[in-house]
Amino acid sequence: MQVERGEIIARSLTGRCPNCGAFGMFKHWFRLNKHCTGCEMPLEKEDSGFYFGTTSIGYVLAIIVVIIPICVLVVKEVVGMWTGVIIGIVGSVLLTTLLYPLMLSWVIMSYYTMFPNELPANSEASDET
Ligand SMILES: [Zn+2]
Repeated sequence: MQVERGEIIARSLTGRCPNCGAFGMFKHWFRLNKHCTGCEMPLEKEDSGFYFGTTSIGYVLAIIVVIIPICVLVVKEVVGMWTGVIIGIVGSVLLTTLLYPLMLSWVIMSYYTMFPNELPANSEASDET
């Protein structure tokens, strides 16, 4: 294989294209390019439900990470209920906004870590063997 799993993970975690390692995946903070600007690898799957579903899971996790500690603080009366609610809402929105590109990267990372042969660089290499 041209691109090893470790390489895919390292590239994706730093927001780069797993196929070519260029910073060509993101159109802007919330959106992937249709194709990587470095290698033309398609980034939008036809069944975009896959990406969408996984980012939704990310949202839920991010919100849980914010909500649970706040619930604990409210129950322990460290913060008032309304303070907790406001921190919870603002915290969830901030966290999911900040984590959004990271989640997109994670989705791509998990996909190509599971199916490394789907990378154009790797499918070309498999013809030779
Ligand atoms: Zn690329």
